[in-house]
Amino acid sequence: MKTILLTGTAGFIGSNFVPYFLDKYPNYRLISLDLLTYAGNLENLKEVENHPRHIFVKGNICDRALVESLFMEYDIRGVIHFAAESHVDNSIANPAIFIETNVMGTFTLIDVAYRHWMSAPFEYKDEYKDCRFHHISTDEVYGTLGESGLFTEETPYAPNSPYSASKASSDMIVRSYHHTYGLNTIITNCSNNYGPKQHKEKLIPTIIRNALAGNPIPIYGDGKNIRDWLFVLDHCKGIDLAYHKGKAGETYNIGGRNERTNLQIVDKICTILDEKVPCRHSREGGNLVSYKDLITFVADRPGHDKRYAIDATKIERELGWMADETFDTGIEKTVEWYLAKYGIAK
Ligand code: NAD
Repeated sequence: MKTILLTGTAGFIGSNFVPYFLDKYPNYRLISLDLLTYAGNLENLKEVENHPRHIFVKGNICDRALVESLFMEYDIRGVIHFAAESHVDNSIANPAIFIETNVMGTFTLIDVAYRHWMSAPFEYKDEYKDCRFHHISTDEVYGTLGESGLFTEETPYAPNSPYSASKASSDMIVRSYHHTYGLNTIITNCSNNYGPKQHKEKLIPTIIRNALAGNPIPIYGDGKNIRDWLFVLDHCKGIDLAYHKGKAGETYNIGGRNERTNLQIVDKICTILDEKVPCRHSREGGNLVSYKDLITFVADRPGHDKRYAIDATKIERELGWMADETFDTGIEKTVEWYLAKYGIAK
């Protein structure tokens, strides 16, 4: 039995990853470390609550004494690091916690891992030879694209928000531990995820929630910002591949080749909702024909990046990754999940 430390597992991606990983690897015991900030919810881990190979620990990745004690107590043999402050809008309002968690937290974790697994630079202790530190990052570190082009692993970093700057900084720390100390690291930079268990503050849950409640559906600016959307389970499968088969010190971009404007996203979700639970809301006296009538443009986010799009060729070619979901199949499953969550019969 090998014990792996996962951080941030009560959040969106981590909580999708844990059941997938437990199921796929019967020889792994997983330690989940999560501070349960506003973004973390134990409800997300309900399905593995009593799982014999999963242990949940509430705590802060910045708490060095705690992280050291977990490495000692459970003899951690690998780390997959999801924990982060992750919402761009919050990073604009309150950047300090992003620097604390994303930069200092990543440093604390990787430094403890290095000291637990290695006796000196480029010298792994015998029993820890295969131990790997996998850092989960974002395509936002690359900045913004014009109308054409894709982010590759060679694209220079140009983060534009305090969130992406903090993630870029954490990527650099991880990179330095590989180059300076020979630590076995992997970084994956993924595009926008969607799917079950996403926090309600993010775009897709916001659209679904407001539509169902008959509230205005807020869309930033002109709605033409483009993101490259990936179903969360496809991201989890990419992490799994990179963790097990990726080359030490490498970075892999993960993305679904599903570029959509925010307007296309809202339009698609409203179309699905119109079919499944026809709109019965009214506004200003009249009945609404479609949830689309609730779309409301609001002032744009400051410094809003125009377009992100990932070139996933490297992980596809070298590790054989391929997304299983198209945007149409993934978004259908996602809407279904939210309808069930809100107890709405179709
Ligand atoms: P999330 O905000 O849903 O979850 C983050 C989790 O981290 C929460 O459970 C929170 O309680 C926990 N956490 C926060 N601060 C902590 C701390 N100091 N110590 C311990 N736990 C702490 O985020 P997510 O969307 O699941 O993203 C997970 C990772 O994937 C992040 O590193 C993010 O940058 C990256 N990422 C996300 C996306 C996306 O579209 N959501 C895309 C690419 C990369």
